[in-house]
Amino acid sequence: MAQEARLTGRCLCGAVRFSGSASEPKVAACHCSICRRWSSGPYFEISCENATFEGEDNITRFRSSDWAERAFCNRCGSNLFYHIIDSNELQISTGLLDDQSDLRLTLQVFIDEKPPFYTLADKTKTMTAAEVYAAYAPPSD
Ligand SMILES: [Zn+2]
Ligand SMILES: [Zn+2]
Repeated sequence: MAQEARLTGRCLCGAVRFSGSASEPKVAACHCSICRRWSSGPYFEISCENATFEGEDNITRFRSSDWAERAFCNRCGSNLFYHIIDSNELQISTGLLDDQSDLRLTLQVFIDEKPPFYTLADKTKTMTAAEVYAAYAPPSD
């Protein structure tokens, strides 16, 4: 049952603010090595549509692969979003959100890349790297 959630948030320094909506308040955690190098731990993300930003001048986009980019605030370094280039959705860093009370962790991806020193206790669906690539393979060109 979908319950659309209105999302608002900001980076650590406040130079970047955003608002948007999520079809459901579901959070995914990505344990891949790129996300962990970027975020220190797993990257907790929520799919956001219709995102609008204040402070665009403070957003730097880093092309982390052929198909995706990652954005951060160039004043304070807060991670902002992961974006598959051909998609209209942004995977917003849940840490930015003003209200996190309704969020639920429902999915962990790249579970086979998770290092052994931590484990998330929530019961979620999990996907290995191979399962992610099979389900969401970017169109090859
Ligand atoms: Zn900032
Ligand atoms: Zn990742």
